[in-house]
Amino acid sequence: MTLTEPAPPKAERWTAQWKELYAEVITTGLCTGCAGCVVTCPHDVIGYEHAEGKYIPFHLEQELGLDNCIHGEKGCTTCTRACPRFRAWEPAADMHLFGRTREPDEMAGIWRQLYLTRASDDMVHKIGQDGGFVSAMLIWLMEHNYIEAAMVGGVDDDDAWKAKPVLAHNKEEVLATAGSRYTYCATPLALLTAKQEGLSKLALVGMGCQTSSPPVMWDRKAGKESRPFLFNIGLLCSKTFDDAIFPELFEAKYGLKKSEMAKMNIKGVFQIWMKDGAYHEIDLKECHQWTRQGCKSCPDFAAEHSDIATGGIGLDNDWTLTIVRTELGEEVINRMIADGSIIARPAQEDKEAMRLLRLLSIVSRRRWPEFADKAPSVGVPPPKKKADAPAPSAH
Ligand SMILES: Cc1cc2nc3c(=O)[nH]c(=O)nc-3n(C[C@H](O)[C@H](O)[C@H](O)COP(=O)(O)OP(=O)(O)OC[C@H]3O[C@@H](n4cnc5c(N)ncnc54)[C@H](O)[C@@H]3O)c2cc1C
Ligand code: SF4
Ligand code: SF4
Repeated sequence: MTLTEPAPPKAERWTAQWKELYAEVITTGLCTGCAGCVVTCPHDVIGYEHAEGKYIPFHLEQELGLDNCIHGEKGCTTCTRACPRFRAWEPAADMHLFGRTREPDEMAGIWRQLYLTRASDDMVHKIGQDGGFVSAMLIWLMEHNYIEAAMVGGVDDDDAWKAKPVLAHNKEEVLATAGSRYTYCATPLALLTAKQEGLSKLALVGMGCQTSSPPVMWDRKAGKESRPFLFNIGLLCSKTFDDAIFPELFEAKYGLKKSEMAKMNIKGVFQIWMKDGAYHEIDLKECHQWTRQGCKSCPDFAAEHSDIATGGIGLDNDWTLTIVRTELGEEVINRMIADGSIIARPAQEDKEAMRLLRLLSIVSRRRWPEFADKAPSVGVPPPKKKADAPAPSAH
């Protein structure tokens, strides 16, 4: 810089703390319950409400009431730096991961490669929700020393459909948590277990609301708590359901007992396989009233800030739609294809999967409220008139 050039503008000081998080995210309904703020708080003063129908953070200290934080008043800003719904979170994560924001037409976010994949190991393939790709990749990442453990959605010991955050350390533990539960599970909470165990090289498996958190933390310099997140695996997601859907709809109306269910999936309808071999389909419209509160404003169907996002849309039931987004994601998937750990074919072959990826991404973006930061709504086409709009046919 010469003496005549003006000094570059100083970056605005980040002062927002719990008070702003509470007012702008938690009380406005933008909070997804991802637990990013909970696991990064350096003073451990943010708790998490696990009760059914809740899944939200709350302040543990009472000095300044529920809506303010004494550490925040003294300058701590970590929680807002970690929150993937606070102010301009989408551009922050885009810039950090991709060096640019998404183009208005990039409804499903920025990506490098699109595949349909399945685990080569028949057992992993069979046990997985779709192609078993996520489980295969976690096992591969562990075996190749990329990670020490993975934060995944496990299940309660007494209830195979009650999702809970779990830290998986090896192949057996990964396979024990394979498959999808359609209730909410704040997988980043497993970081607390990892910290107790002294582990710091971790993968995160989670929906977009969770996998956007690490890139936002990195961009906003949330500090050392953000460093263990090394690999981010996203799950495509339109919504999760309240746990109450089991007793209040599946059992009360259809007589389907939770304890007798073997597998579920959502492909245009809620599909339920029972342990006795019976198969049931339930109209998604019927399930609508059990949509979890934290999902109602969510604009991110395609887990747009993961290293690799995965889903089950398209013509084939037993392949995983795999969206490779980052350089790191590309490095890993190329190595997995090369050593035969997975089978992959171009996803563009499946026109229906491509159509649904775009359509469902648009549907989710339309939920983002007008009062919030504009970025997630940029480029979103207005809804067509009812008569000419095709109904989404897969989950
Ligand atoms: C709540 C939810 C909603 C989804 N919605 C869609 C959708 O609308 N469209 C779509 O195409 N795909 C959706 N998916 C993704 C899809 O169901 C599969 O997870 C994905 O295709 C990967 O399949 P796989 O066989 O490769 O994974 P697997 O090898 O079976 O591994 C699945 C991983 O998901 C984790 N997991 C399971 N349940 C949860 C949970 N509740 N929260 C966090 N992690 C969990 C498991 O721990 C496991 O690591 C959704 C998944 C979930 C969990
Ligand atoms: S969206 Fe996540 S980080 Fe933000 S307030 Fe809610 S739980 Fe905390
Ligand atoms: S719709 Fe899915 S990604 Fe969005 S908040 Fe709900 S669980 Fe998270």
